[in-house]
Amino acid sequence: PADQTTGYLEMIEGLAAQLREITGFDAICMQPNSGAQGEYAGLVAILRYHAARGDHHRQVCLIPRSAHGTNPATAQMCGMEVVVVNCDDNGNVDLTDLKAKAEQHADRLAALMITYPSTHGVFEEAIREICATVHQYGGQVYMDGANMNAQVGLTSPATIGADVSHMNLHKTFCIPHGGGGPGMGPIGLRAHLAPFMADHAVAATGREDRAHAGQGAVSAAQFGSASILPISWMYITMMGGRGLRRATEVAILNANYVASLLKAHYPVLYTGSQGRVAHECILDIRPIKAATGISEVDIAKRLMDYGFHAPTMSFPVAGTIMVEPTESEDKGELDRFIAAMVSIRNEIRAIEEGRIPGDNNPLKNAPHTQADFLGDWDRPYSRQEAAFPLAWVGDNKFWPSVNRIDDVYGDRNLFCSCVPMDELG
Ligand SMILES: *Cc1c(COP(=O)(O)O)cnc(C)c1O
Repeated sequence: PADQTTGYLEMIEGLAAQLREITGFDAICMQPNSGAQGEYAGLVAILRYHAARGDHHRQVCLIPRSAHGTNPATAQMCGMEVVVVNCDDNGNVDLTDLKAKAEQHADRLAALMITYPSTHGVFEEAIREICATVHQYGGQVYMDGANMNAQVGLTSPATIGADVSHMNLHKTFCIPHGGGGPGMGPIGLRAHLAPFMADHAVAATGREDRAHAGQGAVSAAQFGSASILPISWMYITMMGGRGLRRATEVAILNANYVASLLKAHYPVLYTGSQGRVAHECILDIRPIKAATGISEVDIAKRLMDYGFHAPTMSFPVAGTIMVEPTESEDKGELDRFIAAMVSIRNEIRAIEEGRIPGDNNPLKNAPHTQADFLGDWDRPYSRQEAAFPLAWVGDNKFWPSVNRIDDVYGDRNLFCSCVPMDELG
């Protein structure tokens, strides 16, 4: 009941004020329950804005090839026509191609969806020119803000020229991430788009400003997953402006630390003009695969033997591993991860140099379970190398409970685990 949520509404408005300051936007819509839902709410606001100006025909959405899969999916859900923009060899948006496509579709251009820093892990230096180009042809800029942890306190979506953007509170603002939710992906909007943001169909959203009333909801509850918002409010309040900026700096520093120490062992696919990455780095495993048959999956499985959950695989580039340490890992943990990756590279070298067979080695047989060590052992490497490849691994050994399963087979061959009808009698 509204008369019992006065404090909660105050907290939500406090969080919205914090997010306005962080993003530079004028309004925050607290409805979307995920980043993807924020994208949807943002594009809907853009389409409504165009429609209100008589521009119903503005339906083209430019999306760079480097985009997260949710971007084209969202544009498609909104009934927009997706036009893909190419990237150059450095992973940046190809400015010439962007300008050509914006001009070609000028009459029907609705929006550009762009991630900054990009999913290639680079701060695109042309970002302001990219946004200005889209505006020049009458389009709006949707910034995918999932990588806000590389911006907070240093720059902002409004500064770079975006009109609307989501923030993943379950990525950047401390809400536990994973396991399927709940999440929160509120969007920030510039003043001209604010009147077009989603509102709740039945319940009041509690704000004085009801200019956006009647726009329809994007989620069932008026403030999305409201029960988890105190986590972000507490995080931002306790960190303060300086703390948040420091977290961003540490996230960028950590990614560059990993990239600098691993690049001699695995090529870092994309860097900016100063040779640096943003908040994540992509390690290219394709040359190793070509030379030895060892793939990113083998490395990911082997990391389990070292006690690590593998980083993101084959996204956004197939055959690569993307490492995003964030600000949360301390230097000791980063050093252990780097040592594990270097040790794995040495294991790969043994295959390259013919010292161990390509199809029977610690990588192809990973992960190793306790059961593997109980019976006879006739592998061309020792139990010690398999289970305790580095001295500290035994200090806190994680034992995978099953050997490798064929992920792709499982993904492609769904089966029902419920009891068959004939067994129900
Ligand atoms: C995580 C992510 C999304 C989607 O966010 P969800 O909350 O998972 O829907 C969109 N874009 C990028 C770049 C992301 O990293």
